[in-house]
Amino acid sequence: MQLSDKLEEKFRLDVNQKKALRKLKIFSVADLLFHFPVRYSDISEVKNIADLVAGDMATVYGKVSKLKTKKAFRSRIPMAEGEIEDLSGKIKITWFNQAYLAKMIREGDMVKLTGRVTAKKNGIYPHTFSGAKGVGVYLANPEFEKLPNMPIDMHDTLFRPPRLSGTPPSQGEKYMGFSYPIYTETRGITSKWFYHAIEKIFKDKTLDNVQDYIPDNILKKYHLPTLKTALVWIHKPKNKKDAESARKRFAFEEVFCIQLERQHDKFEYRKNKSFQIKAEPLAVSVNKFLSRFPFELTVSQKKAIKTILNDMSKTFPMSRLLEGDVGSGKTAVAATAAYVVQNQRPQDKNGDLQTFGNLQTAYMAPTEILATQHFESFIEYFKHLPINIGLITGSGCRKFPSKLNPSGWTTISRAQLLKWVANGEIPILIGTHALITKTVKFKNLALVVIDEQHRFGTAQRRKLVHKDTKGNISAPHLLSMTATPIPRTLALTIYGDLDLSLLDEMPLGRKQIITEIITPNKRFETYEKIRQELKDGRQLYVICPRINEPDPEKELALNVKSAEAEAKRLKKEVFQEYEIGVLHSKMSKEKKEKVMQEFTEGKINILCATSVVEVGVNVPNATVIIIEGAERFGLAQLHQLRGRVIRSSHQAFCYIFAEAKAEKTIARLKALKTAKNGFELAELDLTLRGAGELGGTKQWGITDLGMEAIKNIKMVEAARTEAIALIEKDPELSKYPLLKQKVKSKVSEFHFE
Ligand code: ADP
Ligand code: MG
Repeated sequence: MQLSDKLEEKFRLDVNQKKALRKLKIFSVADLLFHFPVRYSDISEVKNIADLVAGDMATVYGKVSKLKTKKAFRSRIPMAEGEIEDLSGKIKITWFNQAYLAKMIREGDMVKLTGRVTAKKNGIYPHTFSGAKGVGVYLANPEFEKLPNMPIDMHDTLFRPPRLSGTPPSQGEKYMGFSYPIYTETRGITSKWFYHAIEKIFKDKTLDNVQDYIPDNILKKYHLPTLKTALVWIHKPKNKKDAESARKRFAFEEVFCIQLERQHDKFEYRKNKSFQIKAEPLAVSVNKFLSRFPFELTVSQKKAIKTILNDMSKTFPMSRLLEGDVGSGKTAVAATAAYVVQNQRPQDKNGDLQTFGNLQTAYMAPTEILATQHFESFIEYFKHLPINIGLITGSGCRKFPSKLNPSGWTTISRAQLLKWVANGEIPILIGTHALITKTVKFKNLALVVIDEQHRFGTAQRRKLVHKDTKGNISAPHLLSMTATPIPRTLALTIYGDLDLSLLDEMPLGRKQIITEIITPNKRFETYEKIRQELKDGRQLYVICPRINEPDPEKELALNVKSAEAEAKRLKKEVFQEYEIGVLHSKMSKEKKEKVMQEFTEGKINILCATSVVEVGVNVPNATVIIIEGAERFGLAQLHQLRGRVIRSSHQAFCYIFAEAKAEKTIARLKALKTAKNGFELAELDLTLRGAGELGGTKQWGITDLGMEAIKNIKMVEAARTEAIALIEKDPELSKYPLLKQKVKSKVSEFHFE
């Protein structure tokens, strides 16, 4: 078999299997080889039913009974349920949204089930035959495998799994340590099918033609297995160590490839010339500018400004990311950079780029509302000079100062504004994404500030590169800013092309949001406290619990339901006297805006929203936020949700409602009261709950396996160091054609641009 062979030609596939493979985007032999197991079912996880405890991830073997399908009690979601029983006891099984499973398993079937042991309201233990401990647990959404002729020794204390065919026990090998690979399955295809198909590929000596794309010296340096070995070990590990070693290699490889792409991107951008901003002689004027702020800058703001001025004093463009929580004062840092840029005097003519002043800054915000807010802040910061500032958004253009009213702005036509931008009369232009389109021509664009842009890819950067009339090519300095709290390892990976600065302290004198972790017994007491705030005229956000579902469509529907149900419940049971609105992402834009408008105007007192909904408008009177089902969120996400009540002059409160009473859960949530900033919480998420918490492919374009590397600062640093070294030596990877191809395919796979 060849790696490029189509699976359809090499395997006998039925309609369902073909469909399933297509859904998983597996078409060729290579695709199949690179479809890695998500984990391994290990004999050590196999448990007696009587020994199960809520919270366990467990595999049990037994006989199925009492199967039926029905609709879930409150949500009316179709579900299947039944029981599984072994010699020690029995436990209920439920499958939400997978009612068809009840038809695939028959009464009396012997099965292997792997799933989470989940507690009902007061239960922890399953039903046992020797003195019932209670029937308070069930197995939620377990993966199942039917076991035909299962050679279970029913008298063994630990039921043993049957051996997979074709894997004769080697001498002395015990069941211990033998594990099955478990793959992402989809209806129509099982882990077993993957196991056998891959075994066939291995037997066919397909791997003999596999060539490694990672340079040999790198593999040796970090003790990583070769591609061939790693492929065998990841699918058919002899032991845990081999599996881990293989996973490590593929995790490293993913981060390494992302780094290569990012470093190449940075290298390319740095080849451009940029306006050299000489800040040193300006130190006095910078200080004067800063002294006009109505506050003293924080130490980290000062440090960031210093670094940025140093970056901009080079002849190649800056690429820097400024990370800082909402309210940490990123705008003032950006404004200072913009100040220094517009304050440049003509440069000496020996310089490569001759300019005669008129250096410009473009400031890009993600929404019109934010762009307008920045425009207003900038007027405050610059009005004493004064200088011209422009605003360009979809709904119109403005210019400061107005001729008639020198302390205010005026609306002007787009054509007029663009003319002034092109001839250099507007040194600072603020706007939405439209700011960097072709129609907007700057005279001397020296600095681009990008606020809250998750990633500003190569293609967008290329648009910024400018050729002047004399054929000089230049690119602006780039300052990206974000409040999205992510751990450092993830930032180093996805923003590998940027240098990082962190604003890790809040300005002094800020009112802290009073944050309380509320256990179920304190719920009503808390509602009464909140009622007092509502009586005083304040408003309340209620963030409804996140319901995780593998299918995004269904997940959305469930979350919508939970917000609507919570609004009804609150109206009926708690806050009868108040107006309650609902906001979720399935609503039309108009409807959402209407609800937000009513909330802003105070017609709605309480807003029930799903966690995904962006509440784009800042409602200073909304000072209380409840987050329901808090244990289902990461700390960093809770922190971001809480940020919605930060901008008020009234004291703000955040009530974190936890359903669980487990001490560990409560302790984790308490970090919200002590952590200094969102980035610290993101680090905690990573150590306490792992990389899965951060959202992989969906959010950052990194696979679950790649996310395993994110836990490991040494590995991320190694991948980064090696990528930097390689790009420096061979920027186009011309000596590494296989690697180059791999990077390219990864890039297109994850849509980096
Ligand atoms: P963000 O980092 O979220 O963009 P902003 O730049 O909007 O934060 O700043 C939030 C508020 O804090 C603004 O009103 C700003 O004027 C104020 N601010 C910024 N820096 C300081 C500081 N060092 N001390 C006090 N207030 C500050
Ligand atoms: Mg901001």
